[in-house]
Amino acid sequence: MDCLFCKIAAGAIPVTRLYETEDVLAFPDIHPQAPVHTLIIPKAHHASLAHTAAGDAPLLGHLLAAAVQVAKLQGLSHGYRVAINTGSDGGQTVEHLHLHVLGGRPMGWPPG
Ligand code: 5GP
Ligand code: ZN
Repeated sequence: MDCLFCKIAAGAIPVTRLYETEDVLAFPDIHPQAPVHTLIIPKAHHASLAHTAAGDAPLLGHLLAAAVQVAKLQGLSHGYRVAINTGSDGGQTVEHLHLHVLGGRPMGWPPG
């Protein structure tokens, strides 16, 4: 198992497990870009959003539903941004699908 987020999902690398279901896990980003910056991953390995298929729609729904729960748990009542960086042009640096939930300050648009 050579994937950082697979190791985190398996508990081999300890993180604060903010929210967890059978299929997904949320934990704080190690380099937060906002007062709240949480990552949500599927426990199963998918290299990126582009590596998912139509049959993964339930999992993708679980990930978005988890983002809603994380935002509520973290008190993001003024809003938040959910981002999925995908591939090199998308700015993805860890090749295991993840959602960023960013909040606690106003977000700029467009992103860089
Ligand atoms: P990406 O750039 O792929 O969209 O996002 C990867 C994110 O993973 C980055 O925001 C980075 O700070 C975070 N990250 C990288 N390594 C670790 C780690 O070991 N632990 C945690 N909690 N986050 C990490
Ligand atoms: Zn993985």
